[in-house]
Amino acid sequence: MGAEQLKHGNRTDIFSKCDDYKLAEEYKAKGYYPYFHPLDENEGPVVSIEGRDMIMAGSNNYLGLTADSRVKEAAIRAVKKFGTSCSGSRYLTGTLSLHVELEEKLCDFFQKEAALIFSTGYLTGQGVISTLVQRNEYLIMDRDNHACLVVAAAVARSGLAKVERFRHNDMNHLEILLKNSGEESPKLIVSDGVFSVSGVICKLPEIVSLAKKYNARVLIDDAHAIGVIGKYGKGTASEFGLEKEVDMTIGTFSKSFASLGGFVVGEKRVIEYVKHNSPALIFSASPTASSIAAAIASLDIMKKEPELVTQLIKNAEFVRTNLKQLGFNLMDSRTAIVSVLIGDQEKTVIFWRKLFDAGIYVNAFIRPGVMPGQEMLRTSYMSTHKQEHLEKIVELFAKIGKELGVI
Ligand code: PMP
Repeated sequence: MGAEQLKHGNRTDIFSKCDDYKLAEEYKAKGYYPYFHPLDENEGPVVSIEGRDMIMAGSNNYLGLTADSRVKEAAIRAVKKFGTSCSGSRYLTGTLSLHVELEEKLCDFFQKEAALIFSTGYLTGQGVISTLVQRNEYLIMDRDNHACLVVAAAVARSGLAKVERFRHNDMNHLEILLKNSGEESPKLIVSDGVFSVSGVICKLPEIVSLAKKYNARVLIDDAHAIGVIGKYGKGTASEFGLEKEVDMTIGTFSKSFASLGGFVVGEKRVIEYVKHNSPALIFSASPTASSIAAAIASLDIMKKEPELVTQLIKNAEFVRTNLKQLGFNLMDSRTAIVSVLIGDQEKTVIFWRKLFDAGIYVNAFIRPGVMPGQEMLRTSYMSTHKQEHLEKIVELFAKIGKELGVI
């Protein structure tokens, strides 16, 4: 028997592992399966799932703009003018005047020299970082960073970059890694601005001061921060008044921008380099005209109506304060995400199901999304939630939390 056969439990078919994957089937049979439920209507904050109206408390549509008639009309006009697909990558035939217009608006909004739009936020994180960090250069990142940054690290590592990961928000650990990487070596520190599962904000002031001390560059993934924190929802750098100290920000159009696509902003020479060297940009079709037009309309609204951001935070804060008072174990967030730690897989999916049956849709995070003991229900809010929606969410969390002995 060969060594490889022993390693894979005496199997030779690459698909055999799929027969062992029983978790989804088991939860489906019990009615606890929290994923892939199709929505028949998705305007929010009330959506229709399986023929029932439900309060959506798990969407990243933070400013509620997917339902805004100005955003919808902009998307429709763009389809009429440009058609349904770009049918090519940005590099070749897929750059529309709309992409350029949005890049200019993003530069203006974030006060950076240049911007570059990718097809998704995921591709932006993966593409920018793996293009920039090369052989013998250091990528130093938070262990809780989003999956697209983890994949970026794997790609960078395959190009012989050195990848180090510091314990979540642990600035002492970050400093040790920076020190160990050596004074002369080029380094990029990468962190989520707002961590996507917990809603916790990164320790940006400490990160930028360590970056200065050890001569490193800083890139922040602000997918969950833009439209949520900072002046006019400009994100984490703005929240701390550190716009100049953050070298690059990446973002997505799939959350506050009510669309699909991603972007990076930074120095012109760096953006030009990424533009001509990133396979994720060059070899993937560009985001559609309707997506870009919707993002432009959302950005214009964000600039004109900062009260949307204020209302969003107010809504999340109402639920957070009430759940805390009820005795739930919450993550330390002050963003649009209110995650409730349950700490047990079975209890998490049962809690999820009971909320689902009562008409509240939230996200269940169980393994492999989180470590055992860290299972949680992630709720997130929109500017357009009404007070009655928020009160209903709190009321049902209280009722089910008591039933299941969580509080
Ligand atoms: N970065 C972070 C921190 C995210 O949470 C997400 C989406 N969940 C992404 C990147 C990817 O964005 P997109 O969905 O636009 O691909």
